[in-house]
Amino acid sequence: TAAIEARDAALSFGETPALRGANLSVATGEIVAVMGPSGSGKSTLLHCLAGILVPDSGEIRFAGRRIDTLGERERSLLRRDTFGFVFQFGQLVPELTAAENVALPLLLGGVKRAAALAQARPWFDRLGLTGLEGRRSGELSGGQAQRVALARGLVARPQVLFADEPTGALDTLTGEQVMDLLVTAAREQGTTVVLVTHEARVAAYADRQVVVRDGRVNALVAA
Ligand code: ADP
Ligand code: ADP
Repeated sequence: TAAIEARDAALSFGETPALRGANLSVATGEIVAVMGPSGSGKSTLLHCLAGILVPDSGEIRFAGRRIDTLGERERSLLRRDTFGFVFQFGQLVPELTAAENVALPLLLGGVKRAAALAQARPWFDRLGLTGLEGRRSGELSGGQAQRVALARGLVARPQVLFADEPTGALDTLTGEQVMDLLVTAAREQGTTVVLVTHEARVAAYADRQVVVRDGRVNALVAA
């Protein structure tokens, strides 16, 4: 069975169709890049796969079981306990230290503060952030902040990591460093990754690339 799957998912915002029968099946441990023009439905697809949005029709399955039929609370628990997230601008809590930001998913999952911080610590060496544990995240550079966001997305060892333009706010070199770290860490812990990007160089890090056009998913066909 696939780790995460959309079957014929359709979703409109009012009169605006965002997804029109999207199909995507991501195998366990696979890293898939979702590309496509702005407004094509990439984020909406990611949000449906991650149980943030529920499609109007079609199915979303995690490990073979439907999640689109779950209630708000069950989906929220699934996101907290099973999925990890990385967004474009990191979306760290600026008043918290880098280490507290990384520990956040563990704290929300009920891990005690000392244990959560201890679990966060190895990520700093791993991602080239040694010494920045106590830095307020509002004082980090863009590349540092995005690596902290990546650590936060992976610290609870999620089964699926959802990354929406994780390099979108970074220059090319910094973005490639973040992608390299993301792919290495995901492979090490066998995490399935669904990555939305409009940058071909970023998508090239994935095992497979798909293209969303007008709310439908197509395999990438080389030009
Ligand atoms: P992409 O990620 O490819 O840029 P989106 O999934 O964000 O595309 O958006 C797909 C379409 O749905 C666009 O027309 C967008 O304006 C619309 N849309 C997305 N989210 C919302 C929303 N919350 N409310 C209204 N329209 C939305
Ligand atoms: P992305 O660049 O990843 O597509 P956006 O900046 O378009 O993300 O959207 C950020 C958030 O705003 C998302 O949660 C999306 O659902 C929502 N959104 C996108 N388009 C619209 C819209 N036209 N109206 C309201 N909300 C929107």
